[in-house]
Amino acid sequence: MRETASAYASRIRRFRLPRVCIAVVGGDAATMIERAESLVRDNPLLELRLDYLAQPQAALPKIKSFIELHPEATFIATCRRAANGGKFKGTVAAQLALLRKASEIGFLLADLELQSAKALKPDDLKDLYDRIGVIISYHDFRTTKKLDDQFAEMSKFPADFYKLVSTATNLHDNVVMMKFLEAHAASHEIVGLCMGEQGIISRVLGVRAGSVFTFGSAIRGEETAPGQVPAWELRDVYRIDTVDQATQVYGVAGDPVAHSLSPVMMNAAFRRETVNAVYLALHAKTLKDLLACVQEIPIRGLSVTMPYKQEILEALQNSDPLTKQIGACNTVVRGAGGQLYGFNTDVAGIVVPLEQRMHLADSRILIVGAGGAARAGAFGLKAKGAEVFLTNRTPEKAQVLARQTKAKYLKRADVAKQQFDVIINATPVGMNGGKQAPLNENELNTKYVFDLVYNPAETALVKVALARQIQVIPGLEMFVQQGARQFEIWTGKPAPIAEMGYVVSKALERQAAERIVEEPKAAVRKPAKTESRTPLRKAAKKASMPARKK
Ligand code: NAP
Repeated sequence: MRETASAYASRIRRFRLPRVCIAVVGGDAATMIERAESLVRDNPLLELRLDYLAQPQAALPKIKSFIELHPEATFIATCRRAANGGKFKGTVAAQLALLRKASEIGFLLADLELQSAKALKPDDLKDLYDRIGVIISYHDFRTTKKLDDQFAEMSKFPADFYKLVSTATNLHDNVVMMKFLEAHAASHEIVGLCMGEQGIISRVLGVRAGSVFTFGSAIRGEETAPGQVPAWELRDVYRIDTVDQATQVYGVAGDPVAHSLSPVMMNAAFRRETVNAVYLALHAKTLKDLLACVQEIPIRGLSVTMPYKQEILEALQNSDPLTKQIGACNTVVRGAGGQLYGFNTDVAGIVVPLEQRMHLADSRILIVGAGGAARAGAFGLKAKGAEVFLTNRTPEKAQVLARQTKAKYLKRADVAKQQFDVIINATPVGMNGGKQAPLNENELNTKYVFDLVYNPAETALVKVALARQIQVIPGLEMFVQQGARQFEIWTGKPAPIAEMGYVVSKALERQAAERIVEEPKAAVRKPAKTESRTPLRKAAKKASMPARKK
């Protein structure tokens, strides 16, 4: 027989709890149990969201049988009331009745919102506390404010754990949450995190600030709170189980960054090279907010993306000559005293894939575009002795860049008359499945097309080039090379390029598959047959991903 749930039992278990609690949902017992069954062996701490069940009372016998099969696991019963952000439409008395039942069928912990605790009679609360471990929870769905005041209210009620969840409206809110955790974790068992896309720092680093565990979703699409990350991602991508005081923090900063593949790539690189570091997507709505976090977390290094590549220059103590010349920085290193140093690795992202294929000093290269990527390409390729041509939708911008870099401006009408070794697309045309190509078929008089757009892998330009038997260099190569250079700047170690390429191409395939599922009526597209004899792709093919625990 499973031991009776009690506060004592939960206190004992606290020392064996995993760092991630997975929130499990389901409209009926069978669905919830099926999902829980698939998770419980790898992650023996599950929150069963009874409020998602259409008939929670009726589901309890089946849940009891399931819990009895898993005596090693800790189950939390949560029946969040609609008024407090959940789905349970019953009264506080009905909620209490359900949690009491939960204590009888093997749940070790029950989540009770602060609002419900306040509404209950002290005797009822004591009765629940005598039956089962209690988590007093409070969720602020709008802000991260007055955490100490909120906690003072919560700690008036006896509990085994206090769960305080706020909403990050900027990156600095994570700092507020972590300072709160550091201040109270020694005296209380606390779970604390910030919801929202900007709360990712607290979801990953909260455990080292003192949060007993954090919450993850079972799968993408089954989040029970805004910004919740799938539990497998917390473990496999962010390696939350190994995050400790010595873990160095890095991130990609921009607005937006939600769909960036940099976290997948850079965390894989850190894991492969056994660097104790974690890399996060930092959605910075202002540079000021970002810089405050960099100093207070502190963050050791940043990948900088739109719209901060130029603006960040003002915050740097120093930068390398290329960054100064180009006037854009995509890589920041924070010194021990808080000084910020800037680099530009976009140049390497364009130059290295081309150098691997040709002697740049003898090559004629057309760059389409005159923005940041075109700038990095023009400066970098000219420095290698290439003959560089520029064309752009807004001719004046290309003319200015041509003057600055000593490249040649080419009118769009003249492109078809020329022969090139490489044509580089440095415009966003073709991104997100756009059907347009930046040049027409008759303008592609070239041996190679290098499309800097990497998502999707098969852009309209890539399709046209392949149809004309032109060799294609995928934008993925730029992405990986610029990231590899960042890794080397930050760690001083050679980057595991094959691994980085492998995980990004897998992530792109996954995203493409998800797009096809989202558009069931769209024709199924074959993956791009891009040139495969390049060092990166050969290496990527050979690379093997560490097996993911099932
Ligand atoms: P950017 O600074 O905004 O410059 C965009 C350039 O594209 C400008 O020259 C702009 O022309 C032109 N453009 C925009 N929309 C156009 C359209 N509909 N038709 C024709 N030209 C158009 O952007 P960026 O930072 O240079 O990045 C450009 C693209 O490179 C990105 O979208 C991304 O796909 C790719 N990229 C890839 C990597 C990688 O790692 N693979 C890294 C960086 C960038 P105007 O001057 O007329 O506005």
